[in-house]
Amino acid sequence: MKIKKRYRILLIILAAIVLLTAAAVVYLHGEWWYPVVSAMRITPELKLEIADGATEDWTLDELLADGRVTLSNNLLLVNASHPLPKGYEATLVEYNGAKMHPLMLDPYISLRDDVQAKTDVRIYVASDYRTPEEQAAILTQEGNTTAAQVGCSEHEAGLALDVYAPYCGGINFLRSPAGRMVNEICGEYGFILRYPKGKEDLTGIDYEPWHIRYVGQPHAKLIMEHGLTLEEYLDTLEVGTWYVCGEYRFARLSPDAIKVPEGFTQCDISPDNMGYYVVTVRFG
Ligand SMILES: [Zn+2]
Repeated sequence: MKIKKRYRILLIILAAIVLLTAAAVVYLHGEWWYPVVSAMRITPELKLEIADGATEDWTLDELLADGRVTLSNNLLLVNASHPLPKGYEATLVEYNGAKMHPLMLDPYISLRDDVQAKTDVRIYVASDYRTPEEQAAILTQEGNTTAAQVGCSEHEAGLALDVYAPYCGGINFLRSPAGRMVNEICGEYGFILRYPKGKEDLTGIDYEPWHIRYVGQPHAKLIMEHGLTLEEYLDTLEVGTWYVCGEYRFARLSPDAIKVPEGFTQCDISPDNMGYYVVTVRFG
C-alpha cells in the first residue's frame, strides 16, 4: 500500500512538471498562441454615429489654401488593385536612420516608449520607407504573398513601418511581450495592423503582425477596435455623410461636392486613392 501511495504522489508530481513545462513552452512561443487568442476575440460591428449641424460648401482648392487645413495621405489605400498614384512623392522625415511620413514620427515615438514602459522591451524599425528599387529587391527575396508588387507597397508611400524586438523579428515578433503589446495598443497611437490574420483574402497579403500603418485618429481606433482592414473601413464610409467620433468629425467626400462643418479649428484631408477624400475635422 505504502509503495502504491508513493507512486501516486510521484505520478502527480511528474504530471505537474510536464504540464508546467508545456505551459512555459507555449507561453514562450507567442507566435503560436497569440494569433489564435486574438482571432477568438469578438469585435463589435462598426456602427458610426451620423453628425448633425450646419455645413459650408467649399471647393477643394479653397479648402487646401485655408490655414487650418493639412493635406496628407494618411488614409490613402495602397494595395495590389490600388497602386500609388503616378508620380507620387513620399513626404519624409528621418529619425534614427528610419524614413517615414512626418505625421507619424511623434506617434511612433510615443508608441515605442509606451510599449517599453509596459513591457521593459524596446522596439526598433526593421523596414521603413522604400524606393521602388528597394521594393523590387524585397519582392524577389520574399515573394508576392508577403511583399507587395512595386508601386503597391505602403512602404513606398512612407506610411508603414516593420518593427521588431531584439531577437524577435518577423512572425517571432509575437514571442516578445513588446510585439504583442504593439498589436494591442497601436490603435491608440494612430497605427493599424494592416495585414491581420483571417483577412488575407481582403488585403492580398499574409498575416504580418510586425507591419504597422499610420492612418491617424479617430480612424486607427475605430479600425482596431472593430477588427477591420483599411479596405473594409473605407467601404463603410458612405460618400457625403459626416460622422462623429469623440472630438472628431469626418466624412468621405467627392472632390466636387465638399461640405465641411462650420467653425472647425483643424482639418486633415487625405485622398483615399479611389477618387474621394477623407476629411477629418476638430473643434476647439
Ligand atoms: Zn511591411
